[in-house]
Amino acid sequence: MTSDDADRAAALLHLRGATLDKGEPLPMPLTMASMYHLPGDPEGAAQYGRTHNATWEGLEKALGHLEGAPCIAFPSGMAAIAGVFFATLRAGDRLLLPSDGYYATRALAERFLAPMGIVVETRPTAAFLDGGFEGYRLVFVETPSNPGLDVCDIAATAEAVRAASGLTVVDNTTMTPFGQRPLDFGADIVVSADTKAMNGHSDLLMGHVATRDADLLAALSDWRRLSGSIPGPFEAWLAHRGLETLDVRFARMCDTAEAVAPRLADHPALLSVRYPGLTADASHGLAARQMRRFGFLIGLTFASKGAAERFIDGCAFLRPATSFGGVHSSAERRARWGDAVEPSYVRLSIGCEPAEALWPALERELGRATS
Ligand SMILES: *Cc1c(COP(=O)(O)O)cnc(C)c1O
Repeated sequence: MTSDDADRAAALLHLRGATLDKGEPLPMPLTMASMYHLPGDPEGAAQYGRTHNATWEGLEKALGHLEGAPCIAFPSGMAAIAGVFFATLRAGDRLLLPSDGYYATRALAERFLAPMGIVVETRPTAAFLDGGFEGYRLVFVETPSNPGLDVCDIAATAEAVRAASGLTVVDNTTMTPFGQRPLDFGADIVVSADTKAMNGHSDLLMGHVATRDADLLAALSDWRRLSGSIPGPFEAWLAHRGLETLDVRFARMCDTAEAVAPRLADHPALLSVRYPGLTADASHGLAARQMRRFGFLIGLTFASKGAAERFIDGCAFLRPATSFGGVHSSAERRARWGDAVEPSYVRLSIGCEPAEALWPALERELGRATS
């Protein structure tokens, strides 16, 4: 961990403490309110539950500290992505999306933006810079892409998009601000599904948008206020609590993934293994320059769909579940949702189990998949 990450992690735990009066609770209180005491001129006070909530504000302060940029919280990752689309795009604009990224981002654009006159185009993450970015209002990057784990160059993309007068958005869900810092590479906007590792306990949905551009921030804030796409206070409170252990969880998850990925790559039950931290991985050189950690997601290709299913369902320390980034290791075949990957491709999300216990459990199940 670099010293700025260490300082950021330590300061996160004292953001609130530094502001307290005698007798106030150290943890952030939960404010459940639609109405506030509001006599006379309403300016400068909490007004209504769709415009103000002290618990979101506490969550946004923590998120903003981690991102190094103001943040707006949304009730899910897709709500954050929808907010970016609606706050930035107009009829006639062109939008570029990864063809191999999170499917709902593409589905949202095709189902709702295209009929409103926005031109939606896609390109694979591994060849994202090919063809340039002339004429795009918004270029949406997902790196490493979910589920295929291809990587693209954020700084080179952001520079070329800016030269063409467009905006670059990076979906940083798979990496978190401890693993990758897209705004520092020149991206205009970061979006994240905090449903995943940011909260980390698989008990809520949440999302956020981070940007250092005041006009974009104001547009996103208007979008949330007017569309009503607001997080519930209790979920915001839980997400804030989850964030306080992100540094510890993410470090453990990445350490374990880095330890088990080479062993998986050597295992005869697997035809191929994708992990940006493997020196032989196609994305390794770029990943080593751009990512602070190599992440906790590993892509496994088995010999057959049946072998993949047996591995997922049989391993004592793996939950067969969609989504990722929780404290419990989990895995699924993404082809079951129609993602363009092999039927025997498994996205493995390494959790917080100690590697000394997790690896023997994975190895035992891989042995069964081979026999
Ligand atoms: C899960 C996910 C989303 C959507 O987040 P939700 O909280 O499920 O709405 C967006 N992008 C990526 C990369 C994701 O993995």
